[in-house]
Amino acid sequence: MDSFAERLLIWFKQHGRHDLPWQRDPTPYLIWVSEIMLQQTQVTTVIPYFERFMRRFPSVTALAAADLDEVLAHWSGLGYYARARNLHKAASRITAELGGELPASVAELVELPGIGRSTAGAIVALAHGVRAPILDGNVKRVLARYHGIQGWAGQASVLNELWQCAEAHTPDNDVGAYTQAIMDLGATVCTRARPSCEACPLGEGCVASRDGRQAELPAPRPRRIRPQRSVRVLLVQDSERGVLLERRPVAGIWGGLFSLPELAEHEDEHVWCDRVLNARVSVQRNLPAIDHAFTHFDLTIAPTLLKLEAAPAVVMDRPDWLWYKPAMKSKPGLAAPIAALLQSVYSSRGASL
Ligand code: SF4
Repeated sequence: MDSFAERLLIWFKQHGRHDLPWQRDPTPYLIWVSEIMLQQTQVTTVIPYFERFMRRFPSVTALAAADLDEVLAHWSGLGYYARARNLHKAASRITAELGGELPASVAELVELPGIGRSTAGAIVALAHGVRAPILDGNVKRVLARYHGIQGWAGQASVLNELWQCAEAHTPDNDVGAYTQAIMDLGATVCTRARPSCEACPLGEGCVASRDGRQAELPAPRPRRIRPQRSVRVLLVQDSERGVLLERRPVAGIWGGLFSLPELAEHEDEHVWCDRVLNARVSVQRNLPAIDHAFTHFDLTIAPTLLKLEAAPAVVMDRPDWLWYKPAMKSKPGLAAPIAALLQSVYSSRGASL
C-alpha cells in the first residue's frame, strides 16, 4: 500500500467520520442516495434530508413507485433538483430492468441517469469494498494540492491527471475506509479556505504545503477575458426638435432600434455636424461614459452633448432619423443604455436639456 493511503487510513481511524447515517448499514441504495445528496451539499445539511428521504423511500423499489412530485417535495430545499429527477428515473430503471438491485460495477452504474464515474466509484468502494477510485470535489482539492497539479479541473488534461493520481493512490485493501478517509480529509482538514496543514497526515510530501500555495490550488475556473469595445455617440440637441436619433441597421447590435448617432474613430464633432447636418455647434460638453455588457463583450459608450446654434435646414425627413422628445406620444424603440442616458439627461436638465 502506498504511504499516502497508509497515512490516510491511520488518520481515519482516529479522526474520520464513522457515524454518518449511511454508514450504519452501507447498502448500495443508501450510499447512492447519500452520494447524490452530498454532490452539492454539506454533510450537516444533508443528514436530516437523508433521514426523512429514507423513512419515506426506504428502498429502490419504494422510490421507483413514488410520484416524482413527492420525491421532489422531499428534496425541496436541497436545490439542484435534476439530482432528484435523475434518482427517480434511475430507480425506475433499476426496478424495471435490473430486478431492483443496483449494479455492482462502475461500468454498469455509469449507464444510469445522474451517476458519474466518481459516484459509481464511491458506491462500489463503500458498499461492496471493490477497488475503484473516486474524484469528487473534496478529493480533487486534496490531490491537486498534494501533487501541486496546476490548472482548472474542468480541463480534460487536468482532470485526467487527477484521475491518474486518484487511481494510483487507491489501495487494493480497505478501499471502503480509504474512500471515506479521503472524502473526510477534504471536508474537514484540507478545506477550501485555510486548510489545517499542521493536523494533516499528508503534510509530508504535500507540494502546496511545502510551497505555501494552498490558496492557489486547485486553480479556479478561469475567467473568460471579455472583449472591450468603445464607441463615441452624439447627443445632438436642436432646441426646437429635441435630440437626434438614428435607426440602427437591422443586422448587428440593437438592430432596428433607435440610438444616438455614432462618430467615426477620429472624426471631430464639429466636422460631423457640418458634414451631416450642415449646422454649427454652440455648446459642446462631454457627458459621463456608460458601460454596457453584451453577452460576448463590454461596450463603453462615450456621449458628447452638442447644442446646435440653429435648427438644421437639411434632410429633416429622413426615415431613419427621429427628433426625440420625452413628451412624444409614440415612443421609439430605444436601446436600453440610450433610453437610460436620455432619461438621465432630461431628468437632470429639464425637458429643454
Ligand atoms: S498538507 Fe495541507 S494542503 Fe496538503 S493535503 Fe494536507 S491540508 Fe491539504
